[in-house]
Amino acid sequence: MQGGVFVISAPSGGGKSTIVEALRQRVEGLGYCISHTSRAPRPGETQGVDYFFVDRNTFQQMADKGAFVEWAEVYGNLYGTSVEGLRHQIFAGRDVLVDVDTRGGSNIKHRFRESVLIFLIPPSLKVLEARLRARDADGETAMQTRLAQAAEEIRQCKRYDYMVINDDLEKAVSEVEAVIVSARLRTPRQLPVIRRMFDFMS
Ligand code: ADP
Ligand code: 5GP
Repeated sequence: MQGGVFVISAPSGGGKSTIVEALRQRVEGLGYCISHTSRAPRPGETQGVDYFFVDRNTFQQMADKGAFVEWAEVYGNLYGTSVEGLRHQIFAGRDVLVDVDTRGGSNIKHRFRESVLIFLIPPSLKVLEARLRARDADGETAMQTRLAQAAEEIRQCKRYDYMVINDDLEKAVSEVEAVIVSARLRTPRQLPVIRRMFDFMS
């Protein structure tokens, strides 16, 4: 049985990395698709853990060779979901989280019809700005670019299957977990398991 694809999107500072990290700690059997990016690593980010950091040229060559399921330019940098990172995991039956922008989310839904799209909404633009400032990872200009895009990103939430408000972190993590657990309990996914349990079902 093929694993599921769970897309997490939000405006920058919306809590994607934080919530993805928490889910990986507590949801059993959940993989993460590490994207490639031409962005420079932030302090504390590790090559091959947070992203595969590559230069723009290398990224472009990979894109030309079809190494990405989808890729996009976001806030002036290139980001892509690798075929290797996604397809191989789901074809091995593993559920995978992907953290992509809203264009990436649409493209993944197009390629993987059964994928589940989850959007994280900040409690307000003011709180979002405060969180971005507190993270202090991108410099003032880059942060302003990200904030300027926030409303447009949030507007796209209506295309998503689920919307989770990321006010209280624990509550938000539990709600995303609930979405993943429910998807795992859907009949098409459970039926093969039940068939193996009861001879009379086959
Ligand atoms: P993204 O990956 O979407 O850009 P991050 O996960 O880096 O966002 O979160 C941005 C900042 O906001 C981080 O400093 C993170 O610790 C903080 N943060 C995320 N969610 C919450 C929350 N529910 N309450 C308080 N701070 C949060
Ligand atoms: P950041 O630089 O803050 O890590 O990410 C910036 C934006 O790029 C976020 O919206 C994030 O979801 C998006 N992103 C990260 N990886 C990918 C990817 O592989 N594809 C696409 N389309 N967007 C990505």
